Amino acid sequence: MPNPKRKHTRSRRDSRRSQNWRLDLVAASTCPHCKSLRPGHTICPSCGWYNGRLALAPKKKKEESAAGEGGQAQGS
Ligand SMILES: [Zn+2]
Repeated sequence: MPNPKRKHTRSRRDSRRSQNWRLDLVAASTCPHCKSLRPGHTICPSCGWYNGRLALAPKKKKEESAAGEGGQAQGS
């Protein structure tokens, strides 16, 4: 088995890791329906459009939160 000739110092190892450590941007594309930026191959989070049709109804935060609170109050 080929082995490294010398041990790399902590400094060298850490500097290598610091250079290679990088967060890649998620591949983004624009939604053809609402023209907003969304990750590729995903349902548009703002309008729920995917592949030329409405795949998921867009969420309405106010109505959902109000309904959730009412249900919890009744249960407890
Ligand atoms: Zn959209």
